[in-house]
Amino acid sequence: MPRYCDVAVPVPLDATFTYSILDALPEPCVGGRVIVPFREKRLCGIVTELHDREPSFKAKPVQQVLDTTPALTDELMQLGRWIAHYYIAPTGEVLRTMLPLSAEFRRATGYRITDKGLEALHAASTIGSSRRAKVEPEQQMREYAVLNRLAEGEVMREASLRASAGASRAVIVGLLRKKWIAREDLSGVRDASRNVQVARLVDFSAGANLKQPEHSELERDPSTAARKSGAPPLRMTPNQQAIVDYLQAQTEQRAHVSAIRELAVPRTTLQTLVKRGIVEISEEPASFRMSGMKPRKLEFLFNAAQKAALAEIGVAVDAGKFLPMLLHGVTGSGKTAVYLSAMQAMLAKGRSAILLVPEIGLTPAMAADLHQIFGDEVAILHSALTDDERAEQWKRIRNGECHIVVGTRSAVFAPVADLALIVVDEEHDHSYKQDETPRYHARDVAVMRAKMTNAVVVLGSATPSLETYYNAQRGKYKLMELAERIEQRPLPEVEIIDMRAEFRDATKGEVLSRKLVVEIGERLERNEQVMVLLNRRGYSAFVLCRECGETVQCRNCAISMTYHKREHGLVCHYCGFKQAAPRVCPKCGSEYVQYLGTGSEKLEHLLHGMFPQARIARLDRDTVRGRDDLEHVLSALQAREIDLLVGTQMIAKGHDIPNVTLVGVVGSDAALGFADFRAAERTFQLLTQVAGRAGRGETPGKVVLQTFFPDHYAIRFAAAHDYRGFFEKEARFRSWMHYPPFNAVSNVLVRSPKLDEALTWSGILGKWFAATRLEGVRVMGPAAAPIVRLKTEYRYHFLLKSASRERMNNALRAMIEHAVEQKIPRTNLVVDVDALSLT
Ligand SMILES: [Zn+2]
Ligand SMILES: [Zn+2]
Repeated sequence: MPRYCDVAVPVPLDATFTYSILDALPEPCVGGRVIVPFREKRLCGIVTELHDREPSFKAKPVQQVLDTTPALTDELMQLGRWIAHYYIAPTGEVLRTMLPLSAEFRRATGYRITDKGLEALHAASTIGSSRRAKVEPEQQMREYAVLNRLAEGEVMREASLRASAGASRAVIVGLLRKKWIAREDLSGVRDASRNVQVARLVDFSAGANLKQPEHSELERDPSTAARKSGAPPLRMTPNQQAIVDYLQAQTEQRAHVSAIRELAVPRTTLQTLVKRGIVEISEEPASFRMSGMKPRKLEFLFNAAQKAALAEIGVAVDAGKFLPMLLHGVTGSGKTAVYLSAMQAMLAKGRSAILLVPEIGLTPAMAADLHQIFGDEVAILHSALTDDERAEQWKRIRNGECHIVVGTRSAVFAPVADLALIVVDEEHDHSYKQDETPRYHARDVAVMRAKMTNAVVVLGSATPSLETYYNAQRGKYKLMELAERIEQRPLPEVEIIDMRAEFRDATKGEVLSRKLVVEIGERLERNEQVMVLLNRRGYSAFVLCRECGETVQCRNCAISMTYHKREHGLVCHYCGFKQAAPRVCPKCGSEYVQYLGTGSEKLEHLLHGMFPQARIARLDRDTVRGRDDLEHVLSALQAREIDLLVGTQMIAKGHDIPNVTLVGVVGSDAALGFADFRAAERTFQLLTQVAGRAGRGETPGKVVLQTFFPDHYAIRFAAAHDYRGFFEKEARFRSWMHYPPFNAVSNVLVRSPKLDEALTWSGILGKWFAATRLEGVRVMGPAAAPIVRLKTEYRYHFLLKSASRERMNNALRAMIEHAVEQKIPRTNLVVDVDALSLT
């Protein structure tokens, strides 16, 4: 057995640490996890090397060996090293990011519900909903939430209870005191001897014994509530329907409860189905195996371009060589069907595929579809999973039970074997870049992983990023195009409204142009649906004093606060700080405070006033708190229970609603005024994507685009559906200014709650950059960051550009070294390679 091992621990240090291995321990392995002492703590690290080289110091011994087979395969270890190198991130932090959180591996205490707790829960539910809804103190509500969760029969850790039932320490202590819950040691809980829960669809064809749901989601919307009286007895919410559909497709209409969780419907939905007598839950030994859901051969009706793209992907995979491909398809051209069909082909060959989707693209409805297509062969990784659930999925993938993985950013690290294909849907989406260490871009990691494993990677988008399209143009990526919408449906006609002229001619300060109001009215009359994009939430964008000219700013950030009418308060959109709406100016005491600028909340209000008959809904981060809210609005829109949808960029992403024939764009060109070199690209992408929502059904669509920059090329090319034209123009600007894709760009941010520290440290680095001859690297700064104070921290930054990534990264490494010598804490220095946001 080797005597020493090097371990990467999750700390912000660019080094691994050597530990000794005592004979009494099982033999660790490279890629396996060990528990090691680090400073005063015990940390879980990953072994990076086993060796017999005696270190110059007395090495501390490894305390525990968690894996004797690698948690991270050679392939993933290699990928991890590349990420650490490329993004200049500590290896330990990178490797930790690649594994599910270690929650399940630590010795921990869990909680289970006691008989007394079950009685209490039962008593509370029979008292009646009227009492429960009103006067229950919050603590008690939370206790019942925990009991409800535990009543599903599992032993759960505190962290999972916090995440899934909103439990706090006080709530758990209170429950323990009342003996409603009990502690349980979790070592060994994951043994095969434990029971699992199995859900079965009750034969409900009779329908007579069905209870109505106690708090139906349907009642939220008065229009649906009104129609409910005449509805059939089995009316279900889309979430409930998703579970029923899933169970119906299973052998004997039964499935593991854990598999149902994957559908990404809220937990309460399954409970509601049980309460309504539609589903029964029973305990089975864990060794009991479901005769699972078989993948279903889905037949797509493809047009010639789709068939060609699919054939090219097939040929590339069969060649067994790394090949990056760009699938550039206009909105509505059927890219998703191509991905799914290609993945089906991989499964048929017994190989693996990963599909990455942006955060908002992975809705419960999509998860249900994926289960229909891939059966139990698919693992779905999304942000609503608890740590334990994520670990469970990870294990299934690692054990080879799933060959298909669909997920958001971190799914790029899924430990599938024999990877043949990675698809990155909406590859231009900014949610693929992680905004904390390691600041990796999942699209670029996907390309690298494919390269390391000789796989094919397909990047898909209607609006490819400049970087990706540039690579396709140079022949680095193979370009495939879907130039037409399916069934030869036309792209929507786009009419540009010059809001400067509108301001002169019409009533000043109106948000909606006369033309857009007329067009909306016409669509509503014809029972067609309308979307209006206003990419700013809240009611009024800022509060201004007319006497002294001050705007009300957040006390933590150098940002104007936004007025939110429903909360009657001001909210900071960067740190979430809230305060009451001021009646007088906080600076000078004047009563002349004005609320200026329109947000989505106000627009919704205005539209209600103009079209009182219309059913209007809003989609933004204030109305969408979780995935369920999004799904709720989208399915109501699909069911034509909403006439008019107002929202921020959330409404632009991928939704396919055939009856939407008009899209209005209101004031979404504000970004063009900012000094961000990606502003034009972002605006072009947003406008193209939102325009793409119009006319996806049989009736052709129209877009009314209001702008103060009618001559800007981002607006012009978006209106003309001319991606190539936009690319050519934008590429010239980027090349001229030495920006990506022609140069690599990194942002170095120095931050501190103390202004003098931030200034001193950025001064030290500024001097170092000036004194050090960095050949081929341009350094700009130090300068105040665009948001100079954010979340109580002062921020100064440098922007580095270089045609040589090698040179730039060497410069950054040398800078970090200097910073360490100068005692600048590593956590106060953010190095963002390939930065997408310079705020
Ligand atoms: Zn004032
Ligand atoms: Zn703030």
